[in-house]
Amino acid sequence: MAKVLIIGAGGVGSVVAHKCAMNSDVFTDIMLASRTVSKCDKIAAEIREMHGVEIKTAKVDADVVAEMVMLIKQFQPVLVINVALPYQDLPIMDACLETRVHYLDTANYEPKDVAKFEYSWQWAYQERFKEAGIMALLGCGFDPGATQVFTAYAAKHQFDEMHYLDIIDCNAGNHGKAFATNFNPEINIREITQPGRYWENGEWVEIPAMSIHKPISYPAIGPKESYVLYHEELESLVKNFPTLKRARFWMTFGQAYITHLQVLENVGMTSIKPIPFQGMDIVPLEFLKAVLPAPDTLGENYTGQTSIGCQIRGVKDGQEKTYFIWNNCDHAETYKEVRGQAVSYTTGVPAMIGALLMLKGTWMKPGVWNCEEMDPDPFIEQMNQQGLPVQDQVNQTLSVEE
Ligand code: NDP
Repeated sequence: MAKVLIIGAGGVGSVVAHKCAMNSDVFTDIMLASRTVSKCDKIAAEIREMHGVEIKTAKVDADVVAEMVMLIKQFQPVLVINVALPYQDLPIMDACLETRVHYLDTANYEPKDVAKFEYSWQWAYQERFKEAGIMALLGCGFDPGATQVFTAYAAKHQFDEMHYLDIIDCNAGNHGKAFATNFNPEINIREITQPGRYWENGEWVEIPAMSIHKPISYPAIGPKESYVLYHEELESLVKNFPTLKRARFWMTFGQAYITHLQVLENVGMTSIKPIPFQGMDIVPLEFLKAVLPAPDTLGENYTGQTSIGCQIRGVKDGQEKTYFIWNNCDHAETYKEVRGQAVSYTTGVPAMIGALLMLKGTWMKPGVWNCEEMDPDPFIEQMNQQGLPVQDQVNQTLSVEE
């Protein structure tokens, strides 16, 4: 039915390629392109062996619009799935505009030299995408992504008005390494070392990084220390659900992870300011990324589960109500299915689902959209079919409030 071009061959790109190949009735022709083509070839060989599907591969530097345009013109996809890094969002969107091809990503644009998370740059493409008759779906991973679909689902089916939203994200897995990040280390560490931020009574409240924390009890996992972070989907959620009085994002970190991070920060290794070193300028965080394990190498022997969900309090028919909707995902199971760990899987499967719904026309409208602006029902239905079963409960005490 459709040709799709996937950009980025890391942990997430690999899962997207596998899952598209496993839905080859929709994704009839797949190309995986990245900066290092040998990574694409390795994934293509795995897909051939595991699912009996041939995919094409190519080398591209997605920072260069002209290279992206040339590749799109050669392969002629209907949709580009961008699972490279947030730095590439704008050049890939520019190439999609020039060639009139739909676009999807899983993380909002960030400039390389400032760790700044906001949708302004990408929302600025709204009119141009509308005029070109093409769609951009932003942040279609798990968080951002499924968490916004969960919130939209709650708004549609459970509440007249939502007042308090807590997104809770737990990785209770063990990969056996002293220190590693579960997705791109550079992006992950930029995110965590920023001041935290949450929405309360119509404004953003800024807090020192990792300064608000408490144990939250996760389904089938139990209590884990969880920290308030700023996460990009909060920006679009408070815009699209203006009745929210408070919206926060919590993520778990183990003590060993935090200690490693503090040491690295204290010695300057997480800085994004270039420093002179042996006759050239290097960025300490980029160097750190080079010595840390790559996210796509963590899968083998990874045990335990992730649990990500939305806890919401609001009003229905004049009564106060609580609602919790979540997914748990097992690292060992996802490794068996697609050779990827659960953090890559929970990002890559929603990206594939968003693409599938766009290609089927279910989620197709010209312009630039966040996931909560689309009908949540078909997405939840696909999550249940594609390896991310969704669970929910009504009117139980929210563990974030215990
Ligand atoms: P990885 O570091 O494992 O992979 C990134 C890939 O992008 C690599 O293959 C890299 O190539 C490629 N790449 C980097 N720069 C370029 C470029 N200029 N041109 C072409 N390819 C390039 O990261 P992950 O797979 O873990 O993460 C991918 C994306 O998913 C990130 O944007 C991340 O923020 C997002 N994410 C979203 C989540 C969500 O829930 N929404 C959760 C987790 C991640 P090379 O191999 O040569 O370095």
